[in-house]
Amino acid sequence: MGYFSEIYQGAKSLVIGMRISLDQFLKNFRGDYNTPYPHKTLPIPERYRGHIIFTNDEAGKSLCIACKSCERACPSACILVEGEKKEGEKKKSATLFELNYTTCSLCGACVEVCPTDALTFSKRYNLANTSKAVYAKIDLIKDLENRMQKK
Ligand code: SF4
Ligand code: SF4
Repeated sequence: MGYFSEIYQGAKSLVIGMRISLDQFLKNFRGDYNTPYPHKTLPIPERYRGHIIFTNDEAGKSLCIACKSCERACPSACILVEGEKKEGEKKKSATLFELNYTTCSLCGACVEVCPTDALTFSKRYNLANTSKAVYAKIDLIKDLENRMQKK
């Protein structure tokens, strides 16, 4: 009795396994699982952290007042900020804002500490280059200018 019961159980689990495999196989063909990247991409989750970028006001200007709080808070020393108070303006603004993304741990300390909410995480997930040096000096001021030009 035990012998036939084992054969039955084995055959049953084989059929169940085959059915699951076939189901997954057909779903792949229907495109339920595969995303034909780069032609299509999945929505990036709200909480995803790409490298930091500047936020901006309605006029497209950065909210950064060059206070250097982010530079001091960064545990990896990967932020370099310089700023000045331009003529006719009440606050300082950044004249240089460089991020060394090669050492950034995406900890978020810079975003949290910023008193003006001038920083946020980008949704960039597919950066690629043959040279690491490109990401050692990401110019956030230039990046904001480029984004505003594309709008
Ligand atoms: S996310 Fe963290 S490691 Fe990266 S720049 Fe900001 S403070 Fe530095
Ligand atoms: S990004 Fe924020 S914390 Fe960093 S220098 Fe500018 S205002 Fe200060």
